[in-house]
Amino acid sequence: MTDKQTLNPPQRLLMGPGPINADPRVLRAMSAQLIGQYDPAMTGFMNETMARYRQIFKTNNEWTFLIDGTSRAGIESALLSMLRPGDKVLVPIMGRFGHLLAEIATRAQADVHTIEVAWGEVFQPEQIEAAIKRVQPRVLAMVQGDTSTTMNQPLGDIGAICQQHDVLFYCDATASIVGNDLPADKWQVDALTVGLQKCLGGPSGSAPITLSDKCVDWIRQRKKVEAGIRTADHQDGIEPFIRSNYFDLGMIMDYWGEERLNHHTEATSMLYCASECARIVLEEGVDECVARHKLHGDAMLAGVQALGLKVFGDINHKMNNVVGVYIPSEVNGDQVRNQMLNDFGIEIGTSFGPLHGKIWRIGTMGYNARKDTVLQTLACLDACLQANGYKGPSGEATLAALAYYHGQ
Ligand SMILES: *Cc1c(COP(=O)(O)O)cnc(C)c1O
Repeated sequence: MTDKQTLNPPQRLLMGPGPINADPRVLRAMSAQLIGQYDPAMTGFMNETMARYRQIFKTNNEWTFLIDGTSRAGIESALLSMLRPGDKVLVPIMGRFGHLLAEIATRAQADVHTIEVAWGEVFQPEQIEAAIKRVQPRVLAMVQGDTSTTMNQPLGDIGAICQQHDVLFYCDATASIVGNDLPADKWQVDALTVGLQKCLGGPSGSAPITLSDKCVDWIRQRKKVEAGIRTADHQDGIEPFIRSNYFDLGMIMDYWGEERLNHHTEATSMLYCASECARIVLEEGVDECVARHKLHGDAMLAGVQALGLKVFGDINHKMNNVVGVYIPSEVNGDQVRNQMLNDFGIEIGTSFGPLHGKIWRIGTMGYNARKDTVLQTLACLDACLQANGYKGPSGEATLAALAYYHGQ
C-alpha cells in the first residue's frame, strides 16, 4: 500500500471471540456530522444514550453513561474510583480477564486478594462467600463471561452475598452483555462495565457503565474538582481523591449530569455509535437478543461436534456466544486458521496463556450471530481441516447445524 491509496480493508467475516463485523447501521451512525459539546442536541443525545443503556442493563440506576475508551477504560475507571490505595479487593479468577482485573486493582494500589479455579470452570457461590468472609474486602471484582475460556460465571446469588457482607460488587460483562442474561438491578450489581465489540455489534472504543446509588455515594466521597473550572461552591470529598484525572468517575458524572461541568470532550462519533448499538438491540428486545445468541451458538456447537471436535471446558456453563474446541493433534492449528483467513476470508480465534496452541475459539456474536455466518464458518472449517490432514469426519457439520435449526 502506498500513502496515495485510500484505506480499503479486505472483506472479512469475523467469527472469533471479538471484535466482530459491526452492524452496517452502526457504521452509518458513526459517519454522522459532529455537533458542539453543549449543543442541546448533543446533551439530548447523551441523555438518550443513558436511557437506552438503562434498558440494556435492566437497571433504574440514574448513573448509566459512557466512558470514552475501550472496555478496559471502563474497568480502569470503575476500579480506580471504587478502590482507595490500601483498600481490600477480592478478585475470583477463572481466566485471562480475571487476571486483568487483579492487575488493574494492583496498579490502583489496592490490597488485592485472589482465588482461582482452573480455566474452563466457574466458581460456586459458596466459594465466593467463604473468601469474602475471610478477606472482608471493600469490593468484589469479577468477570461474567471470560472469552479466554468461554465460561459464563453464574452471578444470580453473588449480589445478595455482597449486600449481606457490605461489599461493593463490580462486574466486567464486556463479552457477555446481551448475549447472556444480566439483569443488573435484580442481581444487585453495584458497578457494571462493558464494551461494544462483542454482542453489542459495534467497534471497540466506548465503554458503557452503570453504577448503583450506593456506589455513587461512595465515589462522591472522593470528589475533587480541577482548578480552572472550580467555583467557590465546589467542595472536595472527605476521602482521598481518585488517582486518575481521565478515569475519575466523579468528574465524568459531573460532565454527564445536570452541572455539565467540562471534563474531556465526549467522543461524539463513538457516542453516536454506542447509542445506535443499544437502539438496535432494544428494537429486537434484550431477551430476544440473548435468545438469538443462544440459538446460533448452539447451532455452531452442533456443527463442531459433528466434525468430531472436542469442546473445551464445562459445557453447562458455556457462554452462548463463543465455543472453544481442541485443535486435533494431527493438524497444525495456525495453518488451518491461516487458510480459513486467506482462502475464505473467515477469521476464528486462537487462545491465550495455558490454552495457547491448544484450542480455537469460535464466536457467534452481535451482527454475526446469524444462520448464514454459522453455516459458512462450519463449511469453511470442514474444508480447511480436511486440507490440512484431519482424520475425523467430514461433510456433516453444516448438515448438523441445519438439522439443529430445523428442530427449533
Ligand atoms: C474482550 C474483553 C475485554 C476487552 O477489553 P478491550 O479494552 O475492549 O480490548 C474486556 N473484558 C472481557 C471480559 C472481554 O472478554
